[in-house]
Amino acid sequence: MFRFLSTALDEFLKVWFQIECPICHGAATLTGLCTSCQPISSLLGPICDRCGTSLICALDVCGDCAELKNRSLDKARSALWLTNEAKALIHIVKFQKRYEWLEVFKSQLVASQFEFIKEDFAITSVPMHPKKFMTRGFNQSEILVDWIIKKRPMKPCFGLKKVAETIPQSLLDRSKRKSNLQDSFNWDKKYQMPKNIILVDDIYTTGETLNACAKVLKKNGAEIVYAWTLFRTMHRR
Ligand SMILES: [Zn+2]
Ligand SMILES: [Zn+2]
Repeated sequence: MFRFLSTALDEFLKVWFQIECPICHGAATLTGLCTSCQPISSLLGPICDRCGTSLICALDVCGDCAELKNRSLDKARSALWLTNEAKALIHIVKFQKRYEWLEVFKSQLVASQFEFIKEDFAITSVPMHPKKFMTRGFNQSEILVDWIIKKRPMKPCFGLKKVAETIPQSLLDRSKRKSNLQDSFNWDKKYQMPKNIILVDDIYTTGETLNACAKVLKKNGAEIVYAWTLFRTMHRR
């Protein structure tokens, strides 16, 4: 355990005191990124009341949400657009297991102002399958929840589980994303289901993962389920 902590500390120090931007390998500033990889754009302007994507004009919902019926997820909001730079950094976080780089986005995430964030809501991350967790060593969405509840006290809830291994959603096209997740999440009945829940994930693409979680939560007694993600992809697939 001590050895793990000491390695993690070494890694952290290396990251924050190196001078190379991890994305483009140019010279980094104090934030750890270079000036051109720095801009991280937030979602501004009119948004769809349901899924939170930006709209060209002030409609209530976007075309996708107008078509989609029977969605379990009530609303979703995201802090930032997944720009190419952010995507490259998230790739480093997940696949080089450099979770310390998530810190670059921390202040924007916890500063997100969404009307649905209420302190009487319970909060949970989208769970990872235990095998995947063992391989990666962390669940980035759990890290996001930890940051949020330090800034905005909300009750964490633990009963949502990923019970089936699935193909990463990012490798599938839209038509296969829903069936891939069929019965892959479950609620552990030893936990009491909160009435209202905020689900946290790193990236919103088509919302299928969040919706699959919301479906399980509602089936087991939740009334309102909202999603709060760090990023939203700029193009849906
Ligand atoms: Zn750079
Ligand atoms: Zn929408």
